[in-house]
Amino acid sequence: MPAAPGVAIRGPRSLLRQIREAMAGARPAQAKLDMVVRIIAVSMVAEVCSLYLSRKSGEMELFATEGLDPGAVHVTRMKPGEGLVGEIMRLGRPLNLSDAPSHPAFSYRPETGEDPFHSFLGAPLLRGGRVIGVLVVQNRTSRVYAEDEVEDLQIIAMVLAETVAAGQVLDPAELKDVEIAPQRSERLKGQRLADGLALGVAVLHEAPVAVSRLLSDDPQAEEARLATAIVELQAQIDEMLEGHQTVLGPSYDLLEIYKMLAHSRSWNHSLVEAVRSGLTAEAAVERVRSEHRAGIGQARDPYLRERVHDLEDLNDRLLRHLAGDGGKSRLLPENAILIARSLGPADLLEYDRTKLRGVLLEEGSPASHAAIVARALEIPCVGRLDALRDRVSEGDPVIVDAESGEAYLRPRPDVVTALQTRMSVRAQRRAEFARLRDTPAFTRDGAKITLLMNAGLAVDLEILADTGAEGIGLFRTEFQFMVSEDLPRFNAQTSLYTRVLEAAGERPVTFRTLDLGGDKVLPYLEAEREDNPALGWRAIRMGLDRPALLRLQLRALIAAAKGRPLRIMFPLVANVDEFRAARALVDHEMAWAQRRGRPPPSRLDVGAMIEAPALVWHLDALLPMTDFVSVGTNDLMQYMFAADRGNPRVADRYDPLSPPALRALKAIQQACAETGTPVSVCGEMAGRPLEAFALVALGFEGLSMPPAGVGPVKQMVLSCDREAARRGVEALLKGAQGAVRNEMETLARKLYVAV
Ligand code: PEP
Ligand code: MG
Repeated sequence: MPAAPGVAIRGPRSLLRQIREAMAGARPAQAKLDMVVRIIAVSMVAEVCSLYLSRKSGEMELFATEGLDPGAVHVTRMKPGEGLVGEIMRLGRPLNLSDAPSHPAFSYRPETGEDPFHSFLGAPLLRGGRVIGVLVVQNRTSRVYAEDEVEDLQIIAMVLAETVAAGQVLDPAELKDVEIAPQRSERLKGQRLADGLALGVAVLHEAPVAVSRLLSDDPQAEEARLATAIVELQAQIDEMLEGHQTVLGPSYDLLEIYKMLAHSRSWNHSLVEAVRSGLTAEAAVERVRSEHRAGIGQARDPYLRERVHDLEDLNDRLLRHLAGDGGKSRLLPENAILIARSLGPADLLEYDRTKLRGVLLEEGSPASHAAIVARALEIPCVGRLDALRDRVSEGDPVIVDAESGEAYLRPRPDVVTALQTRMSVRAQRRAEFARLRDTPAFTRDGAKITLLMNAGLAVDLEILADTGAEGIGLFRTEFQFMVSEDLPRFNAQTSLYTRVLEAAGERPVTFRTLDLGGDKVLPYLEAEREDNPALGWRAIRMGLDRPALLRLQLRALIAAAKGRPLRIMFPLVANVDEFRAARALVDHEMAWAQRRGRPPPSRLDVGAMIEAPALVWHLDALLPMTDFVSVGTNDLMQYMFAADRGNPRVADRYDPLSPPALRALKAIQQACAETGTPVSVCGEMAGRPLEAFALVALGFEGLSMPPAGVGPVKQMVLSCDREAARRGVEALLKGAQGAVRNEMETLARKLYVAV
């Protein structure tokens, strides 16, 4: 909480004046610094005040001290994360301790003579989001510094950071080795959030706004300022959202929540209350922010924790409006790479898409809103980059390598050249695939292979036409549920399905009913913890046990299809009875629609996913009941090989290009051919050229895959002689002792197939 009225604030004001005067004099630099730490120590009634600055080596060096042994100046150095100073450097925020030596990060330096001092307060000198120094005060007695003292020290640190960076403290020769901005080339390992490669210059996502004035003289005027800024902020967010609905589809719902927060009465009310208590509008924002942080930050629920980011983002925006520059959209350089700790759901939309080449985040996860939006906008994005903002300055050249999940900061020329080569290969391949877009996928010996796309978000539909896919072989309806704030109602579901069907036009779309449970948990649906979620209450099991949800979805699908063909597919069917029961629900909903005179679909196909191995031995009973089937190899393989698909330790213990997997697939294909049941494969393997080659050789004629796979797989099909492939694979499987990946590759090359 900010300072008590009147008292502490007068302190830093006169202190800041004294500091400025000390620096303005014509003394040598060291004398100036010595004077500054003395002034701070006296003013803060501290027995010690020390200033550390960051060297190019990455270490923090003691530059001046009042109270510690002067012999330690320019001798004591701390690495990042080492000692309390290193800890502040790492965290980028103050550390307030009543007993410093008992802190786990404490590192004793005998040369400083700091033994007698117990309480410790340190604040970072921040410059463009980086820690360029640390300012510390210490006292003998064991006490926790008051919050107003912490704030005072932060304000002083802020002023010092500005003066150090502006060259007012040290002369250029001394400054040479002080690292105001990092210059070394660095490679950081993170996590891929949205695929692609990008090279550009760093743009810091809204450098933090420092709050320097805490108390107001005129609360009424302050309240009016706050009200104006809030109205501007709300208008800005409303405007930002307008026009993006069609692009983002279900992701749009996330932004709606963000908008709701901006208009939230309780947020507004807390701010007004804080201003009425005598704070400036800026200080009120900070106070309400810290209350929120404390409240939600503790939450274990990942969904709630995501909300903290939204709130942080909203607070930052409001501060910028108060500073008078909130309305300006950022002018981006060409080839901008956005650098941020995390991004709010609306942030990416605010930037000029034609200039934004990539995004690097310190946080973020594949399911985070920013990642979903980045993928939807096709902006390469890497997250989980440790201490990113401390390591990069505005304008630095940077590389986003979202193929390998890495970032390069200030890359060396050879790294840039290598990346440019990869980028041009990627562009060439894209151009080749684009050229093939309207070419139907026939094998060289004339077999038609239907290439379909897997989708789940409305934005995927935009690229449907570009990929050259003939339709959507798997629409994962649960995605809408996963990105929504609460359970999507009938209208929301119907409107998404309608949009999907309209965007697909003449192309067929197979809607898979909700595949929830397992690792797909909804924050708003209570779910019991299960020991084996992948084998637990999920997908069709949930749908049949709680039919209300499934029936509502079926009703929405039927309503959306009106007059158009409708294809519905059930996930994780493990026995024939389940399919029979699920199909009965469809019949029931069809009859319901008919009774109400709703226009029925022009044609209805109901199918099952083959994902549970048991079903492979009961296809004779299943297939006559289905209009089509699709093989979900992601799940089928995890169950066949008893290897959790989400666990990286076991995910590569098996190979789908091995006799057991290929024989099971062959059995499915044969049973379907004998009964004339249309079959496709819709697991990830269908989108990899070598695996797709094996599937075509086994006789599959329908493959549904991630959009990026359509081009490469089409190239494979066009270069493949299916009969030769069939003979080759049959021979290769006979007597094979293990995985046949290498042999498969050799065979494909021998047959001049592009894999
Ligand atoms: C599969 O299991 O192969 C599949 C396509 O479904 P999902 O990946 O959504 O489980
Ligand atoms: Mg599956």
